[in-house]
Amino acid sequence: MKEIEQLIEISQFYGRDSRYVIAGGGNTSYKNADRIWVKASGVSLATITEDGFALLDRTKLRPMSEKKYSDDVALREEEVKNDLAAATLTRDKRPSVETSMHNIIEYAFVVHLHPTLVNALMCSQQAESMLKKLFGEKALFVEYTDPGYVLFKKVEEKIKAFRAAYGEEPHVIWLQNHGIFVAADTIEEIKNIYSDIFGTLEKSLQKNLPSDETLSSQDAEKVIPAVRMMLSTNGLKTLKVRNNPIIAFFSENVENRQLIAKPFTPDEIVYCKSNYLFFDGNSEETLLHEAETQIPVFIEKQGYHPHVLLMKGIGLVAAGPNAKQCETILDVFEDAMKVAYLAQSFGGEHPMTQNQIDFIDHWEVENYRRSVSTTKSNGRAENKTIVITGAAQGFGEGIARCLVKEGANIVVADLNEETGRKTAGELNTLCGGNRVVFVKTDVTNIASLESLVHDAVCNFGAIDCYISNAGVLRAGGLDEMTPETFDFVTRINYYGYFYGVKVVSRTLKLQTRFAPKDYYADIIQINSKSGLRGSKANFAYAGGKFGGIGLTQSFALELAPYRIKVNSICPGNFYEGPLWSDPENGLFLQYLKTGKVPGAKTVEDVREYYLSQVPMKKGCTPDDVTKGVLYLMEQCGETGQALPITGGQVMLA
Ligand SMILES: [Zn+2]
Repeated sequence: MKEIEQLIEISQFYGRDSRYVIAGGGNTSYKNADRIWVKASGVSLATITEDGFALLDRTKLRPMSEKKYSDDVALREEEVKNDLAAATLTRDKRPSVETSMHNIIEYAFVVHLHPTLVNALMCSQQAESMLKKLFGEKALFVEYTDPGYVLFKKVEEKIKAFRAAYGEEPHVIWLQNHGIFVAADTIEEIKNIYSDIFGTLEKSLQKNLPSDETLSSQDAEKVIPAVRMMLSTNGLKTLKVRNNPIIAFFSENVENRQLIAKPFTPDEIVYCKSNYLFFDGNSEETLLHEAETQIPVFIEKQGYHPHVLLMKGIGLVAAGPNAKQCETILDVFEDAMKVAYLAQSFGGEHPMTQNQIDFIDHWEVENYRRSVSTTKSNGRAENKTIVITGAAQGFGEGIARCLVKEGANIVVADLNEETGRKTAGELNTLCGGNRVVFVKTDVTNIASLESLVHDAVCNFGAIDCYISNAGVLRAGGLDEMTPETFDFVTRINYYGYFYGVKVVSRTLKLQTRFAPKDYYADIIQINSKSGLRGSKANFAYAGGKFGGIGLTQSFALELAPYRIKVNSICPGNFYEGPLWSDPENGLFLQYLKTGKVPGAKTVEDVREYYLSQVPMKKGCTPDDVTKGVLYLMEQCGETGQALPITGGQVMLA
């Protein structure tokens, strides 16, 4: 049907434009005489298809406006929800609570959004007077009303009054501290109305928003991991940091913070809660001290953990149940900052009142109670942040892939930027609430590793496990091996492990210092069976790996008092990976060329020879290694160990 295609088009048009839609807020609809298609809950406007709309019977929706519902708020909303469900013709699609408002507007298309610019006016002191001044006396203003059935009744009453006064249907409805409804019979008309509104509002701004360039959050790694642990008293949290000029306007100036101390819209409360923490220490020590004193007081007083923290020098920090939620919190709160900033052009900001806030808080608790039973079960590494070096491809990529499915946030650290970004992109498609980021890293360079830790902390708030996996292999006997090649291999495999632990252990120590007593951090070196047993014509590799076991044992002794476990995993050969099977530079080929396997004439001969040495007659896969990683992370009875995963090829004495 042509109209549904148009509905999809206009939904995506606004959904993909961050000036109009923030964190998926808003909904769209199309109606004919007896049916209405309205965006279903939990569907994103940006990517919506026909499947994303709930279809409802308008003849069943109409009586809802006259029906007598319960006086108890929770009960009333439950009854309304049930009636909405009864009017829904599409199975398994929950229509938005705002559906009734879409239904009473007698135009075919309705696009309801919460745009920043609109809310700059709607959340300002002069919301109504400036509205009339800018858009004329006919502009339909609805003063703030609690969401749900009461808001629907209020809007209905206003529309009826408008019809009586002007003998026509309103195209635009402005909702104080909420957003806007634009309605028309064609989508072209809707686009024209929105662009007129935006043009007028833009012209009336006295001051535009500052640029959105990224600002650094210097020394975040010295504060954020500790804060994350202070916030993890009822399960691990993920944190995410953002900084730019609009954020700095509030984080760097104590007075400006007053402008955003209270929420502006119900959406802001739903995602960010209604109380926020502000720290203005000038050094990492004072910030840590503020966090240590204020966080427990906040939790005690509010009865929940803070979702939004603003820190001088660092910026905006979101604390959420997962990385995806953190992104939403940042988007929604940055939007509130923009609203507060722009509202100064309309007589100053106008937050919600305490009564209005309390209503949403209560409503949220009710909704939460109802949704708890549907929460999905957790993976084995849920909310853990795991940094894996050399994870662009091969074993590292395979381990990352397995850990993503266990709910971990992953930092793919690799020198290979192109492959690394591609891998992170692919792995993100497997994520639920967790996320994967790529950070270009040279493990032989301390500064590069420091920036890896900084980026990991800014993205996820912590490093729970550092997997030192980056490695190279250059086979060759004494006659072939040059000092330069030996140096190259040793630098990555041996020095690289030390450099990584040197840098990462600072952050891990900070974490465990502020963590609950049952929390342990992990360092896991992906070693090799060649770290336990010599390897013919492969001494550069084996030597570095033997050395790695020495480092692991020594690091373990040094870091045990800090509740940091250090272990190595010694995998057998991953025959299917590029290290072995790469047709140009793989080990099977290298070993064939160097004559390491006597009598082997083809790559297949070399492969057969190696497989025959494994009692279990199999190569070691990333899946096998990941099981080892998960075991080492979950247990707290061992450190300094080398765990062979070799199909029985290497057995410890
Ligand atoms: Zn809304």
